[in-house]
This record gives sequence, structure tokens and C-alpha cells, in this order.
Amino acid sequence: MAGREAFFVCHSCGASFGLAEARHRCTCGGLLDVGGLDDAFSATSLCDDAHGVFRYRRLMPDVIDGHWRNATMAEGMTGLAELGLGGVDIRCKMDYAMPTLSFKDRGAAVLMAAAKASGVVSVVQDSSGNAGNSIAAYASRLGIGCEILVPEGTSPNKISQIKAYNATVTIVRGNREDTAAAALKQAEAGRYYASHVYNPMFYQGTKTYVYEIWEQMGGRLPEALAVPVGNGTLLLGLHLGLKSLFAGGAIGRMPMVIAVQAARCAPLYRAFIGGKRTVAPVVNEGTAAEGIAIAAPVRGAQMLEALREMGGTVVEAGEEDIIRYGTLLSKSGIFAEPTSAATVAGAMAWAVGEGFKGTLALPMCGSGLKSLH
Ligand SMILES: [Zn+2]
Repeated sequence: MAGREAFFVCHSCGASFGLAEARHRCTCGGLLDVGGLDDAFSATSLCDDAHGVFRYRRLMPDVIDGHWRNATMAEGMTGLAELGLGGVDIRCKMDYAMPTLSFKDRGAAVLMAAAKASGVVSVVQDSSGNAGNSIAAYASRLGIGCEILVPEGTSPNKISQIKAYNATVTIVRGNREDTAAAALKQAEAGRYYASHVYNPMFYQGTKTYVYEIWEQMGGRLPEALAVPVGNGTLLLGLHLGLKSLFAGGAIGRMPMVIAVQAARCAPLYRAFIGGKRTVAPVVNEGTAAEGIAIAAPVRGAQMLEALREMGGTVVEAGEEDIIRYGTLLSKSGIFAEPTSAATVAGAMAWAVGEGFKGTLALPMCGSGLKSLH
């Protein structure tokens, strides 16, 4: 298949760089995307020798071809569980049923396979927990050294898990933003930054989320897709996946996309409803949905562009609703992180407000076990 010799391309100025460069942004300061990739979705490009994420590897840069087999733990192709709530037909994509118990394995598997192909021997990453778990697991599996920076107050279970993967855990004094700044400093000193925010190879993995739903629903998508949004790793992956399905003729129009933020840390929501082109930082007032508590999202402007291009929207979920829907999920047998409960809360508020009668899919991003304090 042609068009898989990809490169990094600057989202701001269009400059390009090789995928093997340990580079987290452009010389102009702009963020990097994957360029040169023809990923128009075609049923003939699916690979039956892989179970999940790498089933779609012909829609990814060819740099992973030599290493995906060593990286994969059969992540992906998670089930779609039905959840009837208030008359809305919800399908929960059970993405916490992954090797490290969160959806981040989609992105980490692809990013780390690409890092291995580039001869990387050691990586640094910062995370509120889930992405750190994921990167640490795949680094260990591929024999790559790994240091994960986490903010103080991170769930002990997440820290124990990172350590179990033989990675170094560094607890950074301060908040999530201070942690990101500490990792960025290492990246600027030349260390490979296995970041789910900066490194666009991560989104090559998260885009498979929507391919799977399309296949699981018999070659179609539900009328609406809701995703939790902090740094936007799933939203930006969803955007890529939907464009790919559309380009290949697998879908004739975009489904409704609903981005959900926690009301107590909702910079994207504020920018979107204010009609802004960039996202101004907010103060994180503290939310149980720690996976999306990102006060200053690096790809904020890109998320706004993506949402407007898709005709999507942003909603916020209040703390009481996050707790309430978490309890409802548990009662239905689904023990997910509060971030996932926030997604249900936001999606339900949207559905009720719109009088929505169709099918709505959303992810159960992380296991409830991970966020216990
Ligand atoms: Zn640039």
C-alpha cells in the first residue's frame, strides 16, 4: 500500500522532520502531526493476523512494521457493552479491558513500536497515571529504559503499577502542569519524550478506537460519539479515525461528536462556547475525574479546530453528576474510573437536552481500581 512513508509535520508552519528524530516540536515551537500518510480506510487494508490495534497497521506509518509484533499485547478490539440509561441507547466501549487497564495502551503500543524502530534506548514521560502505566509497560516489553514523572497526589495504585513495569517513578512537587514542565525540560535536553500529548504517533494508536466501533456495529457508526477530554488524546485520535473512515467512503457523514470535560477543570469548554480559537488556561478546582483534569491543554487550539471541522460540541459534567453516574455504572456491573463516569454524565446531559433518540457510544477509559486513593 502506498503512502505509508510518513514524517513529522509542523501543525503551525508545515516544516517536516524524520520520524526517527528525537524531536517533540518544531524549530518554530509548533506542535507536530504525522504527515505523508494515506490512511483512507478500506476493508481490504485490515490485517487478520492481529487482534486489535495492529489489525489496522496498514493505516499507520510503515516505521512500525518491524516492531509491532514485539510490542503488541493484543491490546484493542474491546467489547461494546449495552447500557440503557434514561431511554438513551448507550454502548460502552470497554477500553479498560486492556493490558494495563486503560485505553492508553492503544497509543502507547504504536508510539513505543515506533520508538524502538528509531533505535531509542530510553524515554521520559509525564502523566496523571494511566499514560505513564502504559508507556512503562511497553517500554519494558521492548527493552527500553523508562522514567515516568507523576504529580504528587497520584493514586498509589497507578504508582505501584508503573514500578512493577521496572520504570523509574519520579514524583514531582506541585500539580500536573509542574510535572509536564519537568518532563519537557528533559525532552529539551535531548531525551526521547514518549509523550501522549506531544508525540503524534500516539494518535495513530488512539484512532483505532473508532475503526473498531465501525467494525463491531457491522460497518457503520452510532449517531453520536462522546469522549472525555483533558489533553485530547482520544478526541484527536477520533478526529483522525473519522477522517480516515470518511476518506475511504466507509461513512458518508460525521456522527455527532460530544467532548466532555469536568466542570471544575474545563478550559476547552470555556473556549468553545466563547467562540475562541485558542484555549486559555484555567485553575483546576479539583475533580474526581483526574484523567481529564488538564488546566492548560497543549493541543487546545488543535482540539477546537477538530471539533469545529467535525461539527461537534463540548459539554461539562458537574462533580455531583460524576459521582452519581459512577454509582450507576457500578450498579450495572461496570467499575470504571470517575473520568468515564464524567463522560456518561456529560453525554446524558447532552442527550436529554437534545431529545436524542439514537445510539451513543462512549469509552470506559480506565479501571476503577486505578483511581482508588
Ligand atoms: Zn513549525
